[in-house]
Amino acid sequence: MSEGENKVRNIKLTCPICQTEKEIAVPEKVFAQKKFGSIKIQVPPGAVCPDHQFIVFLDPKGLIRGYEKIDILMKTQPEKAKAPIEGKIGLKRLINTFGLYGVFNLIHAKLFGYSGYIIRDDPQDGLETQLNEFFDTITSNTYSDSPEIQFIEEKKYDDIKLKNNALLIDAHNNILQTPWEEKMEFEETIVKKALEIIDEEEQRVLLKQDINNLLKEVEHSVKILEDTKEIYDTELIEVIAKDLKAPKMSKARLNLIRKFIKMNISEDLAAKIKNKVQEFLNFL
Ligand SMILES: [Zn+2]
Repeated sequence: MSEGENKVRNIKLTCPICQTEKEIAVPEKVFAQKKFGSIKIQVPPGAVCPDHQFIVFLDPKGLIRGYEKIDILMKTQPEKAKAPIEGKIGLKRLINTFGLYGVFNLIHAKLFGYSGYIIRDDPQDGLETQLNEFFDTITSNTYSDSPEIQFIEEKKYDDIKLKNNALLIDAHNNILQTPWEEKMEFEETIVKKALEIIDEEEQRVLLKQDINNLLKEVEHSVKILEDTKEIYDTELIEVIAKDLKAPKMSKARLNLIRKFIKMNISEDLAAKIKNKVQEFLNFL
């Protein structure tokens, strides 16, 4: 490793919950790697203040653009979990390995079909396969297959050509670079729900169920969009609620559906969903 690669930049973080301040060291290399979009650091409890975990968003210059809280409390005591499914990885171990935010982002990448890279100091045999099996199982759908998440040895990192528009997780699972900006609200909600159950197989079933519910709404939206020239998002929300006899979904959820259609089914169909605010802004 050359000298430059070991350089770090100290960035002063403020816990968004209790306002405790502390400097953390971010490798300079992270900022050199601009093509991956926004830089997100998951700060575990104890790193800045004893009790809270959060995400900090940095721009490529290292300036803080914002914070996001994570409301899930992981019990520090291992629960009397049932034996893990043989040869498979469970949600708890994935969270212990990649952090909650890492898991949210891995779900997001797999669901929407982004490539993903995880840098490892010591690539563990089997973990890559198990990880892909887990996320493929819970996100599988009839529209598309997601690329495999690839593990990259840290020493080979500089020599490998990485795809743009990918998720990148560093060797310590704290720094993520993502080609998307949105909050991981949906992913956080379904993981939180799954963690209320102890049984690992049931956790998978529940995650899959929640994703399938979203996919049903996708399927229905596609039907509506195929038969229409264009539709306002608010109107689409009403039609879906009426047809599926369900409460009206949030705009955030409709945006997720739109994104899924755009990335995995058809950009033209997704473009049929109009937004009054956006139209107004375009008009200005
Ligand atoms: Zn705090």
